[in-house]
Amino acid sequence: MKINGHTRMAAVVAKPIKHSISPLIHNMAFEKTGVNGVYLAWEVEAKNLQASIENIRRFDMFGVNLSMPYKQEVIPYLDELDVSARLIGAVNTVVNKNGILVGYNTDGKGFFKSLPSFAIQGKKMTILGAGGAATAIIAQAALDNAEEIFVFTRQASYEKTVSKMAAISNQTKSRIQVLTLEDADSLQDKINQSDLLVNGTSLGMDGISMPLPEQLELPSQILVADVIYQPFETPFLKWARNQNVTAVNGLGMLLYQGAEAFELWTGKTMPSQELWQRLEELYNN
Ligand code: NAP
Repeated sequence: MKINGHTRMAAVVAKPIKHSISPLIHNMAFEKTGVNGVYLAWEVEAKNLQASIENIRRFDMFGVNLSMPYKQEVIPYLDELDVSARLIGAVNTVVNKNGILVGYNTDGKGFFKSLPSFAIQGKKMTILGAGGAATAIIAQAALDNAEEIFVFTRQASYEKTVSKMAAISNQTKSRIQVLTLEDADSLQDKINQSDLLVNGTSLGMDGISMPLPEQLELPSQILVADVIYQPFETPFLKWARNQNVTAVNGLGMLLYQGAEAFELWTGKTMPSQELWQRLEELYNN
């Protein structure tokens, strides 16, 4: 696809961002779907965030993705928020709808799309952590009518997490219970009841740390997922696979949150399977 006078732009806005895989994903998607677009990485200072967002309208862009540290800071510069962004309190995708800038959060949808043969409706989920990625997953599970969600957080973050989860629970009429990671008995009890166990913490990025005690046992039918994709197999995923359950990393979440954004911008389906092969080549080595 040649860049010409009709080419429209999308970008990811963050700091740092030069290492991002998103330009590869979206530019391949533009090429494969025949959409005349280009996707760039804009590493901007906080003081330039507002001007960067105004450029979406000024240059008739498709929109932008936001990453750390701007997922919350961007909100005052938008015209509307979609239900997921409102619930989560963070935006990872801005869509330019004829000059109206609408904020979405596609992380949770992307996460559930990435799971093999699994629908959260009517199911129970245990999730470790309540940071940005975990909250997006919890809010989506609540919107998709999960039967019950067990959120485990550090004792030090317990009060903060309880009030955050109460807000999600009230708005979605869903059942969310907050417990502490230090309480191994409750962890085992809730895992035993769950259909899905998710590591939503950053523990495991170092290739060493585990978010829960290794002595815990997994029920045979549980699906296990990690939001981390570097390393490709975290100690948590290795621990789960050693107990012969299906366990997936966060690469699918990364791809499918992008696919949701691409569809919102272009109305076209991202060829996710083809892109998946390329991402696996890059990361699984
Ligand atoms: P975040 O908002 O900073 O949340 C980090 C979470 O990890 C918090 O719940 C935090 O607990 C917990 N945590 C950190 N250190 C801990 C420790 N020593 N013990 C227990 N809990 C600990 O970060 P985030 O944006 O959610 O990112 C979390 C991970 O998700 C990162 O590895 C990131 O790369 C990954 N991620 C993946 C995708 C994807 O598409 N696959 C998307 C976004 C993020 P406290 O609240 O107690 O501090």
